[in-house]
Amino acid sequence: MSSSQFPSYHMTPDEFRRYGREVVDWIADYYERIESYPVLSQVQPGEVRAGLPAQAPPQGEPFSALLADIEPLIMPGITHWQSPNFFAFFPANASFPAMLGDMLSSGLGVQGMLWATSPACTELETHVLDWLVDMLGLPGKFKSSAAGGGVIQDTASSAVLAALLAGRERATGYQSNATGGDGRLVAYTSREAHSSVEKAMMVAGLGSENLRLIEVDEAYAMKPEALARQIEADRAAGLIPCFVCATVGTTSSNAMDPVRAIGEICRAEGVWFHVDAAMSGTAALCPEFRHFQDGLELADSYAFNPHKWMFTNFDCDCFWVADRAALIRTLSILPEYLKNQATESGAVFDYRDWHVQLGRRFRSLKLWFVIRHYGVEGLQYHVRRHVELAQEFAGWVEADPDFQLAAPAPLNLVCFRHRGGDETNRALLAQLNNSGDLYLTHTVLSGRYTLRLCVGQTWTEAGHVQRAWQRIQQAAAAL
Ligand code: PLP
Repeated sequence: MSSSQFPSYHMTPDEFRRYGREVVDWIADYYERIESYPVLSQVQPGEVRAGLPAQAPPQGEPFSALLADIEPLIMPGITHWQSPNFFAFFPANASFPAMLGDMLSSGLGVQGMLWATSPACTELETHVLDWLVDMLGLPGKFKSSAAGGGVIQDTASSAVLAALLAGRERATGYQSNATGGDGRLVAYTSREAHSSVEKAMMVAGLGSENLRLIEVDEAYAMKPEALARQIEADRAAGLIPCFVCATVGTTSSNAMDPVRAIGEICRAEGVWFHVDAAMSGTAALCPEFRHFQDGLELADSYAFNPHKWMFTNFDCDCFWVADRAALIRTLSILPEYLKNQATESGAVFDYRDWHVQLGRRFRSLKLWFVIRHYGVEGLQYHVRRHVELAQEFAGWVEADPDFQLAAPAPLNLVCFRHRGGDETNRALLAQLNNSGDLYLTHTVLSGRYTLRLCVGQTWTEAGHVQRAWQRIQQAAAAL
């Protein structure tokens, strides 16, 4: 950064220092006043854009002008995912150590496609994912010291796609990217699985029509005997079963598919078995919740999202395979311009071979910071607290004659409804969300409109859950 005779438009390190502190202060202030904003953004479509100039500025502007525009132009269009009154969907929680790790990642500006393009980016990732195998009680075969290994993907959707591609290739002797599997490849998941499984079928060229949606039981978990019957019928019809995805914690209702029973079928059939534990995988930090993953040693791959419930800001999905050679063989392609000595030595992981995209951010820094800041005990404490709060909420629902639980609540998601029927529940949800006081979302279970309250936001405390229940009761009484 030496001075030269040419003018520079760049921000200097000194300016960066000054403005960087201002941004950090702005973020800290935001968290202190976050509850003063309506949780769900109340803007109308087009409103944010209407506040922006039609053209980009021809001349650069002072940084103070940029920061000053955040409050009036951007904040009205923010839905506050980090508000402790955010109970919608599954959370995408965050924490200050994660943000600082992400800031360092931006500052280093590393693109870690190859080991050689920043060895620390690869090796820290491998190491932290090995730590997580122990922290979550996952099977040892997922460790890099065994035949497996872990990699950070952007999202659970990318993880299921990578797993499906590996399953497709393994089922066809690594020929189907040439033959397309002749239209005979079929895959399986439950009716309640996330839509990302179907999207993966579309992207992998297998087609959504070749995804079998297996029946669920009264707790919305996959029926393994129905899976076995469907596989048998497909084989009899000359089709090639290549992939099964089970879910530990479905999106609608947090249903837990029976991993062991499904895994045994997959093993007997030689079908790739992926387990998607996008949010609920975090619960396995606590040994008392590990029974939901019983049988995971039968899985070929597993994914969970620290960016949902483990205080690691979006995006960060951890994906493990038991046989990394199968994944690498599926996704590796080495053009001349990426060849290098380390790759040729075979002594390193090049994570570009573990997912669809080539380039990759240094995401493990934020995960490393989270794990080191909280420690295993700190993470366990907060997960247990969230589960306790959700269970308390479920108890209040059960005790109120106007409400009922709509599904079992194994962890931190409560599905419930007012006994007044679909229209009442729809009106109740609209009222609550329009109030700005809290944000809940809905699903449909057994054909009935159902409200969902998920406790997983970093800053949610008992008082927030109590107030949410009071608001729900008041709003229902006023309908
Ligand atoms: N799988 C499950 C069970 C989910 O709940 C979700 C999202 O909520 C996903 C996959 C997709 O997550 P992502 O946004 O990481 O692709």
